[in-house]
Amino acid sequence: MREIFQTKSAKTLSLNYLILHNLLPITGNSVCFFCRTEPESLEHLFFTCNYLAEVREETRRWLEEEGCHSFDRRSITEMTGIQTDYHNTIISVYKETIWIYRNRAIYQKPAQKTTIFKRLEAEVKSHLRHAV
Ligand SMILES: [Zn+2]
Repeated sequence: MREIFQTKSAKTLSLNYLILHNLLPITGNSVCFFCRTEPESLEHLFFTCNYLAEVREETRRWLEEEGCHSFDRRSITEMTGIQTDYHNTIISVYKETIWIYRNRAIYQKPAQKTTIFKRLEAEVKSHLRHAV
């Protein structure tokens, strides 16, 4: 069994599944709702969007502090090489948070990067509390 199925929340599990199978409703034609310059793709959203660079960096730093050194395409899309529950939670919540703010940004100005990261942090902490 892949690590993906160890995630407790059903919402997180289904998002991990959709990403793994490239089933997120991303058109590939429309422009990214965050940076409004590059075409939107799964790749762009989670790895290369300039608007989200700081969120990625903060998340990477956080993982490093926890001794988790993989925050690459495979660990994000396939959830492979995930070392701990904590690592799993941070990566899952990273995707969840970006996806939530992406959906909001369809209708309104994209949220501030600090807002996005703070939400991510709060979500990870709440997941960890519930997991105990
Ligand atoms: Zn973008």
